[in-house]
Amino acid sequence: MPYDVPYVPSPEVVVRRMLQVSGVRPGEVVYDLGCGDGRIVVMAAKEFGARAVCVEIRNDLYEQTLRRIKELNLDNVVKVIHGNFFEVPIEDADVVTMYLLTSVNQMLRPKLERELRPGTRVVSHDFEVPGWKPILAEDVYEEWRSHKIYLFKIPGAE
Ligand code: SAM
Repeated sequence: MPYDVPYVPSPEVVVRRMLQVSGVRPGEVVYDLGCGDGRIVVMAAKEFGARAVCVEIRNDLYEQTLRRIKELNLDNVVKVIHGNFFEVPIEDADVVTMYLLTSVNQMLRPKLERELRPGTRVVSHDFEVPGWKPILAEDVYEEWRSHKIYLFKIPGAE
């Protein structure tokens, strides 16, 4: 079940690198599918000037993130959605970030292929999207372990 993905936050250094490798530009729209405490959308907005959408199924994390976004006065650029990312439209994304599981990425793949425009970048922490070939796979070293970042691009016109 997708709901079984546990909450494990991405370290700051990994978040920054995910946003860097996906080339987030000011005004672009970043979706974090399963956004936890909102750290990816917060950095996307504050450091990269992006607009962002944070989708989180756990009520406690949703409430916490909503509060944080309001405290940081980011509510004009970050939307927080309490819900299941399988049911949230993502057509307007320029960049999608994920820290889920390979099995969940596999289930998400048809939705990503159906809804995302050609050229949209998808960046996944630690888990591949089965059947997709990453255009970049990079190790990021953090205090006690190394993390993998996979970058994909939706094929098509560009
Ligand atoms: N993206 C954040 C980060 O990298 O720091 C959190 C990653 S954490 C490993 C995965 C998050 O996805 C958890 O907060 C979990 O509650 C959420 N989640 C799992 N399944 C979900 C679903 N179907 N819809 C929305 N959120 C989901």
